[in-house]
Amino acid sequence: MKRVIVYHAKKHPSIATMLLVAGAVLLLAICGYVLVRPILGGQDGGTLALSPHELMVRNNVVSYPTLGKEKADALIKEYASKQSDTFVDSIKNGSYDPRNKLIVEYTLLHRGQRTTTVLFTKQERRANQPTMLSHHTMSVDLEAQKEMAATDLFKPDVDAGSSVGMLLYDYFKQEAPDSLTPAQFFALLQLKPEHMHGVWLDSSALRFTVNPQNLPASDGQRSFAVNRSLLADVLKPEYATDDPGEGKPPAVEYAITAKPRPGDTIDPNQKMLALTFDDGPGSLTARVLDALKRVRAHGTFFVIGQQVPGKADVIRRMVNEGSEVGNHSWSHPSLPSLPPERLQQEIGDTQRAIQNVADGYTPTQMRPPYGAVNEAVTAYLHSQGLKVALWNVDTEDWRYRDAALMYDRIMGAAADGRVILLHDIHPTSVEAAERAIPDLVAQGYQLVTMSQLERHR
Ligand code: ZN
Repeated sequence: MKRVIVYHAKKHPSIATMLLVAGAVLLLAICGYVLVRPILGGQDGGTLALSPHELMVRNNVVSYPTLGKEKADALIKEYASKQSDTFVDSIKNGSYDPRNKLIVEYTLLHRGQRTTTVLFTKQERRANQPTMLSHHTMSVDLEAQKEMAATDLFKPDVDAGSSVGMLLYDYFKQEAPDSLTPAQFFALLQLKPEHMHGVWLDSSALRFTVNPQNLPASDGQRSFAVNRSLLADVLKPEYATDDPGEGKPPAVEYAITAKPRPGDTIDPNQKMLALTFDDGPGSLTARVLDALKRVRAHGTFFVIGQQVPGKADVIRRMVNEGSEVGNHSWSHPSLPSLPPERLQQEIGDTQRAIQNVADGYTPTQMRPPYGAVNEAVTAYLHSQGLKVALWNVDTEDWRYRDAALMYDRIMGAAADGRVILLHDIHPTSVEAAERAIPDLVAQGYQLVTMSQLERHR
């Protein structure tokens, strides 16, 4: 397993040549040059003075592992050789000094079926200079047989930083419970894959460290291990599943094994409002979810039942990302005009459609189309465990298809406890929401779901 680079050594030295080495080193110290070719070459038996360059190389001890995978091993060896070459280049213009020495050691952090990660620790000793110590984490994909950078782990079109940041938020909330709102946290964190260092995969988690300048309320670098299963939407499929194996993973400060529960982080003393989106899910709904996710905000989507089966993924995203899914009937009729059986179908079929696509998730909020209810409808909804969810700000976005006007209306109507009605089927409304969501959060609003607003207001 373990290899040590000793340049020009084609054979293992015999005891006799080992003794010669000892003698040579002694001579070296005394004379500044030495006749050591037999030790290093081992075959020709002659004696030749080495050039200063060769003497310097002789002094380095570079260890590296071999994995039994040809291309992967070549990559690792290339890295190891490069360390030695670079070190020699850095000292070759000076005169020979036996104190110049490079020592590279390694630890196998993880060796799985799919990936392997090696931690190299490099000590560079130069005469009359303090020893320089540095680390390099090298990860190799054993199937593709190539080195992996942090960005290779993530799907190319996802906001990995926000997803990882969301999972870290609760840990910082525990450290500094009163000092940070989610908005402040995101403003400070702005976590991007390039802010994560030494990113690698152990058997079950994504490992990385984050420097203090990218962390709130922190005086030092922090190490994290986030379960791969929590990052299934952002890791490439080949890296999202566990990869058991051997290795010596270091201790980690924060092990994140569960998603924060939606609503855990609502501060009842801060202002909050509910954005609600009716008549979807549609082709634009994912953009609203993206905008909410970027700032760890939540909304409520009152969906039309007959559109649910074709949009299973987007319904699941709503649930998984902590937004609320509400019932908006199967086909959008005015409920008071319906005979009882039709009313039951409109409501019940929609509940079942949502349950079917979202692992049994059962809505508890119903927004009647046009806000139309009568006593019979209200009584029926209550009997089905559904609350009547109306609104107090109507943007009339279906009438005015103007993103700038809608943005102004949302921002102008924002106040603690408000429920704002929008439709995620109009491009102008979605554009306005994309602008308003981060701006509301920046103004200190917690964007909560209907049910959360009811609990806290
Ligand atoms: Zn509607």
